[in-house]
Amino acid sequence: MKICMVGTGYVGLVTGACLADFGMDVVCVDKDESKIAALQSGRIPIYEPGLEAIVAKNERAGRLRFTTDLKSAIEQCLAIFIAVGTPPKADGSPDLTFVRQVAESIALHMNGYKAVVTKSTVPTGTGRMIEQIIREKNGKHEFSIVSNPEFLREGSAVSDFLRPDRIVIGASDQRAVEVMQEIYNPLYLIETPFVITDVASAELIKYASNGFLAVKISFINEIARLCELMGADVHDVARGMGLDKRIGGKFLHPGPGFGGSCFPKDTSAAADLARQHGYTFRIIEATMEVNAETKARMIEKIEAAAGPLRGKTAALLGLSFKPETDDIRESPAISVLKDLLSAGAAVRAFDPAAIENTRAIAGDVHYATDAYDCAAGADFVVIATEWNEFRALDIDRLSRVMKARTMIDLRNVYDPKVMKDAGWTYAGVGRG
Ligand code: NAD
Repeated sequence: MKICMVGTGYVGLVTGACLADFGMDVVCVDKDESKIAALQSGRIPIYEPGLEAIVAKNERAGRLRFTTDLKSAIEQCLAIFIAVGTPPKADGSPDLTFVRQVAESIALHMNGYKAVVTKSTVPTGTGRMIEQIIREKNGKHEFSIVSNPEFLREGSAVSDFLRPDRIVIGASDQRAVEVMQEIYNPLYLIETPFVITDVASAELIKYASNGFLAVKISFINEIARLCELMGADVHDVARGMGLDKRIGGKFLHPGPGFGGSCFPKDTSAAADLARQHGYTFRIIEATMEVNAETKARMIEKIEAAAGPLRGKTAALLGLSFKPETDDIRESPAISVLKDLLSAGAAVRAFDPAAIENTRAIAGDVHYATDAYDCAAGADFVVIATEWNEFRALDIDRLSRVMKARTMIDLRNVYDPKVMKDAGWTYAGVGRG
């Protein structure tokens, strides 16, 4: 089957490459000419483990192509996936301009039956909007509307796509269900559960899932706060909670708040969606409030451990919103970076993949070549993202290059007792 993937970002590129790996004939389209030129010359514009190999393999096999020519891609393909960005507007609602533009292009260029599949995260009702746009502009050809939300995580996107917990298909008719079942047949064969439903329910499943995960993170961050006030250890509390199968141990890791391109955007979109229907989604509103407070409180934690920050030098380890990605959108590490600069500290920073993206938004920073170079001459070190290479630092070497032995570990990578015994001033999150 011929598939057109519109939008070749984190989701579109991974989905396109993986569907090609399933044997589909995929053409990935993007309006960003430099991105397409890079991909055509074999360069992957994002950092995502395993992506380069799967793209190269399927390009060589002739199943994966890149183009800016949306018209001919639409004409050639049966299924058109929409995987464009849906960034938040100032009021928290998602900006659907790109989705609308693609729907208009589909209406303009379709030359027969098409299954129009939304992979982008969109509010309930967007499928209906796409249907209206196409129907108004093209009454000639049949088409189906499908919502197929994506649950991959940056940093493990390829393996998440190839081994998902479930596939959600919200379809307007049976023909579309059959198209989608054919596309995802390799996952059906490995017994992946399929949730087949209507378009609106599928759209809501994505917000409900991300909303619930965000609630879990804010919940444990509030428990961490209580632990700090009461002298308890959040890791023991989280383990004691998580072993209860009704709760589960995942997403109970405290830290500097959630970030990335999904949770902040999707929680505010879910709150906005509820408001538009005259309802206040109170748990989500509280989750966002707790997250904003959690992020803002990290600078106080740093100040409490390191003293007044003006004139001091910070070594900031980690810039991406999580390990194994170069994505810094809404990264808590970036809010720490900005807060350090506003407090008058000089910042030396290091990240294995996200320096280039950070350089584009924060120039007044010394970008180091590794963790030890970053720590050289620093008054304190902040671990903001738990990359593996920050998990086993040579603490003696670190203390030799730093001015003072102070660590603020926002990801609770190190053992407070070991650090204190080694003569460090150490602050974690929720550790007594
Ligand atoms: P992204 O910004 O990395 O990529 C979007 C791409 O779409 C860009 O390359 C952009 O140039 C392109 N684009 C925009 N308008 C276009 C048009 N009219 N024609 C062709 N190309 C166009 O975004 P992303 O992170 O891949 O996210 C895409 C969607 O998937 C969003 O709705 C997001 O919420 C959702 N999602 C993201 C993740 C994630 O982890 N990043 C996970 C699940 C779902």
